[in-house]
Amino acid sequence: MTTCLFCNIASKATPAQIVLENEHVAAFRDIRPMAPVHVLVVPKAHLPGIHDAGPGDAEVLGRLLLAARDVAERLDLATGGYRLVINQGPDAGQSVAHLHCHVIGGRTMAWPPG
Ligand code: 5GP
Ligand code: ZN
Repeated sequence: MTTCLFCNIASKATPAQIVLENEHVAAFRDIRPMAPVHVLVVPKAHLPGIHDAGPGDAEVLGRLLLAARDVAERLDLATGGYRLVINQGPDAGQSVAHLHCHVIGGRTMAWPPG
């Protein structure tokens, strides 16, 4: 069984500021926030990235997005809006090989992203 930094945060072996947790996913503050609110939502089961997901992961992917939505609600981003980002692979700058969805908000953001 693979374990990594985000597995360890999800299992609480490594500390982080957890903002939401359920049986399937955990959400915690990014250590280098890019905005006033910057939270990472991860599945508790290790999956290296979105490109490793298949039909059997449909439920956990749905739960990941719903948890991201709930984080935004809980942290008062619903009115102003927010951005959800999943980086996949080197060109996107993925630096941790455990699927995670960034929830970013609390300021106006540019489009297109860099
Ligand atoms: P990626 O670049 O892979 O899409 O995002 C990885 C994110 O994980 C980065 O925004 C980075 O700041 C965050 N990160 C890396 N190490 C840690 C850590 O030990 N704790 C927390 N809370 N976030 C981390
Ligand atoms: Zn992992």
